[in-house]
Amino acid sequence: MLKFAKIASALLLSGLLITPAAANLSSLPDMGTAAASTLTIEKENEYGDAYMRMMRASQPVISDPLLNEYITALGGKLVANASDVRTSFDFFLIQNRDINAFAFFGGHIGLHTGLFLHARTESELASVVAHEIAHVTQRHLARSMEEQSKRSPATMAAMIGSLMLAIASPEAGIAALQATTAASMQGQINYTRSNEQEADRIGMQTLAKSGFQPSAMPTFFGRLADEYRYVSTPPAMLLTHPLPDSRLSESRQRAQQYPVVTPPNESDYQHARARIVARFAGIDAKAAHDWFDRQLARTNNPHRDALQYGKALVYLDNEQLDKAESILNTLLQREPNNRFYLDAATDLSVHQKAYETAITRLEKALQQAPGNAVLRLNLVYALQAAERYEESISLLNRYTFDHPDDMNGWSMLNTAYGKIGNRAGELAARAELYALRGQWQRAIQEYIQAGRLVEHGSVEQSMYDARIDQLRIAHQRMEALQ
Ligand SMILES: [Zn+2]
Repeated sequence: MLKFAKIASALLLSGLLITPAAANLSSLPDMGTAAASTLTIEKENEYGDAYMRMMRASQPVISDPLLNEYITALGGKLVANASDVRTSFDFFLIQNRDINAFAFFGGHIGLHTGLFLHARTESELASVVAHEIAHVTQRHLARSMEEQSKRSPATMAAMIGSLMLAIASPEAGIAALQATTAASMQGQINYTRSNEQEADRIGMQTLAKSGFQPSAMPTFFGRLADEYRYVSTPPAMLLTHPLPDSRLSESRQRAQQYPVVTPPNESDYQHARARIVARFAGIDAKAAHDWFDRQLARTNNPHRDALQYGKALVYLDNEQLDKAESILNTLLQREPNNRFYLDAATDLSVHQKAYETAITRLEKALQQAPGNAVLRLNLVYALQAAERYEESISLLNRYTFDHPDDMNGWSMLNTAYGKIGNRAGELAARAELYALRGQWQRAIQEYIQAGRLVEHGSVEQSMYDARIDQLRIAHQRMEALQ
């Protein structure tokens, strides 16, 4: 799939930022040692939901279907091997070259694309993800906030508001903290050292149980520490996850207690990594080709196909279609069902205006992998390029039902309705995009307007009305979090 059009910048966040309420320490419940006494899992999930909407509105969250499929699969595999899992998990990527990973309430785990540029193996990336999963399963955030609320005259909600900013963007977060609450709360962003040790220890168990190489954890952290030892501004992850020598040596010792394993096939990781270098690293075509060529020049590099794939993407994005085609044909001969290749090859066909070729190929692939989100979105993309909007709408209605939180579906539905002149449908799809960014008022407004355009008493009108009610409730619930 080609880079999706950025949703208009007018869709910016408003009204969701949680402002600190007046100091209200006396109303806080008496807290025991268990975090559950203050913050229920349900509450955590509500905060997590608000947080995700805020992220979509304020951060460059990547909506690339292939990369999201990859990170969801990796995260899911690790969660399946983690203990004490009480929430669902959600993994997302932020386009940012700074190395960072962070966990929030409700099992939302964000990873910066910069991690992929530095993690040479999938086990290295998995070690970071497993560490963040452990922060969630051990409820470190709730526990540390509970500690903090005992000392600081701020409500949990105020702290969460500041934290939401701080976690994704430490610089902005620190500014917000200083503006809104006592500077002492800055310590709040960081987990305690014992939290970090626990996340390392439990994360490594998960890593090993999932078949990854436990030694990847000290290897990756050690490389980061070496790279940034003498740099005045270390990456965000080292600010929130300091790497004292003691932590590194502990991690090394611990890894030695695990047997050495052959990690699982990491072809998908290497392809996802190549895709990030080609499309999300913020470098130009020449720099990207140089990067791939340098890696390819290494003898015995086992990931040549992934590197070639990366080169094909760069050619494709720069309209050097013949070069892209020749590489992709070779790759597809070797692996006809590889979704990275199918995505690029059908994208290429669309560029060549060979829409039917793309559509046929995707329909065939969907027979092999029914319901696959990547293939479905690619098919919609090809149908829309061929101006077959009605067909794309019926696919998208099913897709948005299955994946209501995916901006891609609503965005493409918005486009398709616009193209066929269905103004009500266009407004309704746009309302969902606003809602996903926490802009409740605007979402409701769009639905009200849509309702005026359809026949009185029609199915559409009652659907819109029902949705308005749901959105009002969601809005109220979110306001109540403050
Ligand atoms: Zn940590």
